[in-house]
Amino acid sequence: MISAKTLFRKIIALPSSGVENDSPARSDADVRRGRLSGFRVPYTRYRREDGLPSGQVFDLAQDIHQVFWFATPGGLARFDGARFSVLTPRHGLSSHGLRAVTADRDGSVWVGSDTGIDHVAHDGRVLSSSSTGKWHYGPVDCIHLIGGEIWLGSAGGLLRRQGSGWERFSDISVRAMAVTHRRQDGVGIMWCATADGRLLRQRGTKLVDPANDQWQRVGLVRCLFAMGDNTLMVGGVNGLVEIDEEGAVIAQFQYPDSVEPVSALCRADGDLWAGIGQMFCRLRRHDRVWEISSVVSDHDGINNIVVDAVGGIWGATDGGGIVKVSPLHEMIRPLSLPQNRAVLAVKPGHGGKVLLGGDQFSAVLHQSGSPGNATVDALAHHQTWDIAEDDDGALWAATEVGLVRLVHDDDEARPLFADKPVVSRSCRALIQRNGEIWVGGKRGLAVVTAQRELRYPVTESGEPFGYVYTLNEDREGCLWVGTIGNGLWREQGEHFVRVTHEHLTESGSTYCIAVREDNVLAVAQNDRIVICVPDGSIELLHTSSEPIAGWALQWAREGERLWAGSASGLHAYNVIEKRRMHQITAVLGLSQWEFTTSRSLHVTDSGLVYCGLNSGLVVVDPQHLNDDIPAPVARAARLEWSNAEPKSASDGAFEIDTDRWSLRVGLSCPWFLDEQDVQYRYRMVGFEESWSELSSVPEARYSSLPVGEYRLEVQAFSRLVGFGPASRLLTLRVVDRRLSRNVILAPLRAVRMVRDTYRAMRRNRLLLDENTQLEEEIGSRTAELVRAKDKLQQLNAALTQQVTTDALTGISSRRHFDTTLERLLREAMNKQQPLSMLFIDIDHFKAFNDRYGHTKGDECLGFVARRIEANLYRTADSVARYGGEEFGVLSPRTDVGGAMALAERLRESVVRLKIRNEGAPGPGFVTVSVGVTTLPAKGNFRPEAVTPQKIIANADSALYEAKENGRNQCVFKEFDFTLR
Ligand code: GH3
Ligand code: MG
Ligand code: MG
Repeated sequence: MISAKTLFRKIIALPSSGVENDSPARSDADVRRGRLSGFRVPYTRYRREDGLPSGQVFDLAQDIHQVFWFATPGGLARFDGARFSVLTPRHGLSSHGLRAVTADRDGSVWVGSDTGIDHVAHDGRVLSSSSTGKWHYGPVDCIHLIGGEIWLGSAGGLLRRQGSGWERFSDISVRAMAVTHRRQDGVGIMWCATADGRLLRQRGTKLVDPANDQWQRVGLVRCLFAMGDNTLMVGGVNGLVEIDEEGAVIAQFQYPDSVEPVSALCRADGDLWAGIGQMFCRLRRHDRVWEISSVVSDHDGINNIVVDAVGGIWGATDGGGIVKVSPLHEMIRPLSLPQNRAVLAVKPGHGGKVLLGGDQFSAVLHQSGSPGNATVDALAHHQTWDIAEDDDGALWAATEVGLVRLVHDDDEARPLFADKPVVSRSCRALIQRNGEIWVGGKRGLAVVTAQRELRYPVTESGEPFGYVYTLNEDREGCLWVGTIGNGLWREQGEHFVRVTHEHLTESGSTYCIAVREDNVLAVAQNDRIVICVPDGSIELLHTSSEPIAGWALQWAREGERLWAGSASGLHAYNVIEKRRMHQITAVLGLSQWEFTTSRSLHVTDSGLVYCGLNSGLVVVDPQHLNDDIPAPVARAARLEWSNAEPKSASDGAFEIDTDRWSLRVGLSCPWFLDEQDVQYRYRMVGFEESWSELSSVPEARYSSLPVGEYRLEVQAFSRLVGFGPASRLLTLRVVDRRLSRNVILAPLRAVRMVRDTYRAMRRNRLLLDENTQLEEEIGSRTAELVRAKDKLQQLNAALTQQVTTDALTGISSRRHFDTTLERLLREAMNKQQPLSMLFIDIDHFKAFNDRYGHTKGDECLGFVARRIEANLYRTADSVARYGGEEFGVLSPRTDVGGAMALAERLRESVVRLKIRNEGAPGPGFVTVSVGVTTLPAKGNFRPEAVTPQKIIANADSALYEAKENGRNQCVFKEFDFTLR
């Protein structure tokens, strides 16, 4: 039988990088099936929803303006980094069915279709089309730019551009092309894959068989790729070989399992990216063998692959749209832990080990070689908030059930002092010093001495510390204690003295204390990060508009940089210049970049940054993260005038009357480092001085400006590098032709000007509002940022508030629930945000009491309550004992989807407790039913008609339905405003 521990280790012990890892847990067959998600390279996908005309994409190309073009059966798609636009036969293309696209040197693109070849200008105008000219070569399958000349592989032969027509080089129909051995003058050896799967080589004016036939082991040839070093990769239905210029095999691909066709190839740096069967993967060469080193996706047939100007890898799939691997993926590596497992603590262990505490687990990571190349050893499954290794190599964990000493062969590790205050439950922070273990938690501070005895340090006035959230020891061996709501304390001899200052308050919530080599401290308290220098001076580094509850701080190797993990990503601060340098949310997207606690950041000796996130563990290699990363530059993608016909003046400005017109300027930014993150702001210089709010809607809008001359300036912004330069996109001259020549009317003109300016400002403000709405509609990332901010505000309030606890279970009481609900409801109304409530009721609890007695019943209530509480790691969420065996969970700013996910997680976590309830029908364990309701953000209701009672009634009604449907389940009910 498999023990719980073995099973757990299996789930969690996933190496996370390629074949260089020798872990026995991995076999190539596993890679192929994609079971080891640790091998995954994160990617972005563009689909029909994003504006692609079809999920099937045959070919793709990036033009000299960095814009992408995609050949699909639904037309030609163009992507400028912000939006897709589509060209079809309506715009002059010869056919919908497009097969190939290649960018020319002048910025235009050539498009091969079912019926011939089309030529399209950068702005989308069709310059020529085979449907209007004479074309008798049939479909065009591939296009190649060779030494400045355009070559086509068509059904009717291999063609070369000659003047304005085409010359036939050979009448063999060609499906793929490549050129090796290219000399400086652009001449090289051309290789062709024929429509019937043969490989041919150019010799003089002919296509001939290569001298050596070893390449034939790949079977019918599907794709070719010329490597920089004069060799050719040949992909076929039976595999992949690398050949020299005679056709002799110099390296080949080792299939891990059964053979599958190779459909696409592309080289980037030393790697080869390939489509093999249903897999999009990266290959690396070892001696004479190409092997899979990592897998991007294992359910996409890949038609073509290109590398963009900044090193991003783009795959055209055969039904799944576009798959893109960010060029930052080497810098940001998610490590595989079981899905949905939040990492709450990341700490250094002896000998380069990394210790992990998390949602129902603690583990040790053995690091070897490159970042992310690690194996994981699972230890125990408690909710672990902090972890440390003592001098004897034993591991200690601060867990929800108390202080635990972890022993390798015992996954049911029990709390050490089950009956003692502080250490018997809700421990949060842990540090080992001088052979002692110091533990902080919701109930204060305790020390386990070398003799395994407990003592409880107190403040200088003899008071307990309250909620101890973080602990750290400085370079002089002095302990610092950070509390929630009770300031920051520093050890002084036998005592602890409070550290107060203009920026550090007596009742401040202290989230993190980071110590630098030279004993300079960075402290996160309330809404600010302060720097404490050993001479006693204290400086403000940063005040955040978002409360920094739970922020994690760590000094980088080179001491000017401070890392901060927040609810919206990893930030890097330059401490000397007091500015934020980077905010990293790339590769995974903002929603995945939520740090969990102040103990979830660790910087290794080699400078790697380990991030414990709600979505798991991510390793950042900041080596490439310097100030040279190019910033995004905004462009005008298109202008749309309505109700106006502007004139173009000789200086390029637009001239327009003062009438009722409006102008939309579509913005774009082909900044393909992390294009999904780009936001814009703009201003019309001459009309307004301040910039608009940052928005991810790529559009600037104005209407009927008063007489004057204006200049539209736009800036693109990315979290990674901040603002790019301001681009001047257009100049606008507004004139009043009717009045301009009449001197007598001058006073009237002045009055009109004032009036027009006022009106224009009002109108343009309205336009802004509309833009905001548009933004909400497309579910923008900005909204997520705001939500994260509010969540933190919530956390701050919740943590500092005196908690009214329920005596039996230790969680919040009904009274606390009522006040929280009132406050959250008010906030939800004010901010027009959704509010979700979960009503959780233990199933067949009467039967439990009957069978096991009331005392056991009480105990069970405690287990369930704390399990629910421990699983609310989104800090704005709260749980209270509503009454009897009922619990209420409030989750602000959470919509239906989020609330149901939370409900399901909570329900499952109770099942996992496996408390027997054999007297009841059902699975024999204690289960809960959950009723879920969500007060919508907006809708057709009067705010004053919504009361706390109404929300409770709705949750209750959903719970009733869950019970009726058979219990042990979650039911959501649409909010019913008539319920009382
Ligand atoms: P259902 O699945 O429909 O919820 O069935 P149930 O038996 O859980 O529901 P019912 O409302 O019939 O019974 C609730 C039981 O919970 C009855 C009561 O004895 C028990 N209970 C309520 N509060 C406490 C408590 O504080 N301690 C103990 N031990 N039991 C309690
Ligand atoms: Mg009940
Ligand atoms: Mg019940």
